[in-house]
Amino acid sequence: MVEIYDVAIVGGGGAGLSAAIFTSRLGLSTIIVTREIGGRALVNSPYSHRSIENYPGFPSITGLELMSRFEQQAKIYGATFLFAEALKVSEDESHIFHIVTTRGEVKSRTLILAFGETPKRLGVKDEEKYEGRGISYCAYCDLEECRGKVVAVVGFGERALLSASLLSKVAEKVYLIYWWGGVGEPIDLTRFLKGKENIELITLSSVAEVKGCDKVESIVIQGPFGEDRRKIKVDSLFIELGFEAKTDFLKGFVELDENGKVKTDRDCCTSRAGVFAAGDITDSKYKQIVISAGDGARAALSAYNYLQHIRGGTPLYSDIFTLRSKKLVEGNGE
Ligand SMILES: Cc1cc2nc3c(=O)[nH]c(=O)nc-3n(C[C@H](O)[C@H](O)[C@H](O)COP(=O)(O)OP(=O)(O)OC[C@H]3O[C@@H](n4cnc5c(N)ncnc54)[C@H](O)[C@@H]3O)c2cc1C
Repeated sequence: MVEIYDVAIVGGGGAGLSAAIFTSRLGLSTIIVTREIGGRALVNSPYSHRSIENYPGFPSITGLELMSRFEQQAKIYGATFLFAEALKVSEDESHIFHIVTTRGEVKSRTLILAFGETPKRLGVKDEEKYEGRGISYCAYCDLEECRGKVVAVVGFGERALLSASLLSKVAEKVYLIYWWGGVGEPIDLTRFLKGKENIELITLSSVAEVKGCDKVESIVIQGPFGEDRRKIKVDSLFIELGFEAKTDFLKGFVELDENGKVKTDRDCCTSRAGVFAAGDITDSKYKQIVISAGDGARAALSAYNYLQHIRGGTPLYSDIFTLRSKKLVEGNGE
């Protein structure tokens, strides 16, 4: 293992893998710290064989295959992988970045943050244990597994409704456990339910417990004050509470927006010199694989230029004045 990498990338989805292809190909020693390979392109499902149909060059390709190709390409150019979770990042007085992970510390001269967004969890006991065993955060991905089954969707807003509607086309029965639906509910739930006889709407309720052995067998629902508890037998539970950027450990390190997203400029530079960000973790509006991959490439080129500057080399596609005006580099050196 290299002692200090030129580039450490946190996240092994489309953004991180694309960044690794570029940095390794440019000859920079690169390590990717990631929980797993593929990220959201696999749409959070161990079952998903759903095709991606808008990645240029591939009219239809599964997320798994596309991400495996990204991974292979990064490996061909020599990127190293560390399967771990990044817990903390800091910079020392020599401008070396330290990434504390669940499998030790990684040091690097530049850092690319590419760790996407995570589905919001419900927060019930054993939720993680049942993920992929009846608990899902993506109805679209796990639709086929629900054919003829009894399923529940818990959440609120249009996402929950869309999931329930989709599932109702294949499942025998769908319980829609809706967090709100009382006075002031902005969505016309009666209109939504019209013609969808196999959806049972349970308003002002949430899921308090998930029960089962190897997989989900039932859920316990209750009202907002813990009242009206009752057990429902279900084969799957879909959680539709939206997504969040888990960037707490970056607070004070780089500038974040009000949603916890990393603020970047058009070259994927963050507020801290030597730190770049790419893909869904950034404050950019659009979230697609091709955008994450493009961001990854941009962040990689910016990291390369930053290193070229501190090493006295020639930057790619840019010049020192551009770099300085973008706050890519610090100091008085010419
Ligand atoms: C249901 C659904 C369908 C979609 N369909 C399409 C589609 O058809 N076409 C399309 O282009 N886009 C689609 N998207 C969007 C697309 O999947 C994402 O925009 C893209 O995959 C994001 O890539 P990313 O690399 O930025 O982040 P991610 O793919 O989220 O990758 C983040 C990576 O970081 C890792 N990670 C997270 N936290 C840490 C940590 N602390 N330490 C270490 N590793 C960490 C994760 O394990 C993951 O590997 C869809 C998204 C969803 C949810």
